[in-house]
Amino acid sequence: IPRLPRLKPSTVISKEKREKLDAILGPLTLTNEILTRIMAAFREQMLLASSTDENARKKSDHLMMNTFIRELLDGTEQGDYLGLDLGGTNFRVVLVRFKDGVAETTTQYYSLTDECLSGPAAGLFDFIADSIEDFVHKQGLANSEKTIPLGFTFSFPSTQLALNKQVLLTWTKTFKCPDGVGEDPVAMLEAAIKRRTKDLPVDVVVVMSDTVSTLMAGNYLDKKCRVGLILGTGCNAAFVENISDIEKWTGDDKDPRHVIVNVELGSTGDGGCLDFCRSEYEKEVDKFSNHPGSFTFEKSFAGMYLGELVRLVLVRLIRDGILFGGQGGKLVDARWKFTTTDVTNIESDVGDSTNNTRGVLKKFELDSIATDEDIAIVREVTEFMSVRGAYIVASVMSVLVNYVRLPEVTIGIDGSLYEKHPKFHDAMMEIFEKYSPNTKVNLILAKDGSGQGAAFAAVSALKQAAKGIR
Ligand code: BGC
Ligand code: MG
Repeated sequence: IPRLPRLKPSTVISKEKREKLDAILGPLTLTNEILTRIMAAFREQMLLASSTDENARKKSDHLMMNTFIRELLDGTEQGDYLGLDLGGTNFRVVLVRFKDGVAETTTQYYSLTDECLSGPAAGLFDFIADSIEDFVHKQGLANSEKTIPLGFTFSFPSTQLALNKQVLLTWTKTFKCPDGVGEDPVAMLEAAIKRRTKDLPVDVVVVMSDTVSTLMAGNYLDKKCRVGLILGTGCNAAFVENISDIEKWTGDDKDPRHVIVNVELGSTGDGGCLDFCRSEYEKEVDKFSNHPGSFTFEKSFAGMYLGELVRLVLVRLIRDGILFGGQGGKLVDARWKFTTTDVTNIESDVGDSTNNTRGVLKKFELDSIATDEDIAIVREVTEFMSVRGAYIVASVMSVLVNYVRLPEVTIGIDGSLYEKHPKFHDAMMEIFEKYSPNTKVNLILAKDGSGQGAAFAAVSALKQAAKGIR
């Protein structure tokens, strides 16, 4: 693997500590051999999930789910559409007003309380209905004569039964409501709307993964965008697949002869295919996460987990006496308190500047004891784990790119890990250059695409209804 022109090995780290540091980071290094095995395992899971044989499909860690979304935007769109974005750190309601295909987007954030995340699902959906009401009121749409078509981004693994019908398989990330699994998020939303005294002028026409809405938003920006990727709290991808290439396809095959497929890749390795390379740190992150044993792949790099991974390596170095003279300060007991924002802050220190790194250490009352050598070690570990994460996700995306078999493909990405981390983009590009040499891969930020694209997908749903595509 070529190396980025990133941090030069710091000369302030003594030879003795450098050896110990290398001994700890060494086993975490992603060699060409390990990456090749990860990619082969990933490809096998994708193929299993695409099989016509139901038993093979059940064995796969992936879903390769038909989203029923066939239409992309073509530049002729008119009118108002709403979008909801649930599943990351913020809940959003979005209004898209089209004028001759040009989208003007208004977004409002609503913060989810702990009660929404871990109380009964009905409370979460009541909150969503309240937020829609607040939003349509503020946008002057509350008394709209016509109902407004609404697309619902629901970013959890689900079986898709129709454009506007899913079954939730499991909550992931920060969500842990005791119920809701086995139910249809659209039905839960509609029930919450019905529980209200005042009706809302909305019609939920489509429900989708955030990867799908991000793909829609990326495709609006760049017609070569055929893949959507989330690098946020969690991770997942979707892509446009030709119907003739889908072995298990059972729907109609009217034009357009393609459909968006949601991979659901955050669960890669849940069946054991990546056990050969899971480190003690990844296992520990998983063990203390909301859903142990579930969606283990994204726990190796996604935004909810990257900071904790870095922290666990730093704690190991403290215990081994390599960092801070063996004194832990508040870092040792700070499970989940070292965030991915801390990681991106540290990574944003340029050259010899260490202000951000010192700022993060201050949070753990370590700034006063940190020597220049400690700072250099913290920066190296943070960079190492970040680039490792970028390599892991890019390697599986490279498998997807090769599967799509296009000479050029743009991947539309939403999520703050990609947006804010200063090295993710370049590290990912190294992997595409090495493992997808026959495709020109472009990575673009589709900022807030997961919300905006929900409204775009509502357009698709209406177009499909008009053409009689089910
Ligand atoms: C969920 C996916 C989602 C991804 C990104 C994962 O935890 O399982 O459905 O697309 O997070 O938000
Ligand atoms: Mg999101």
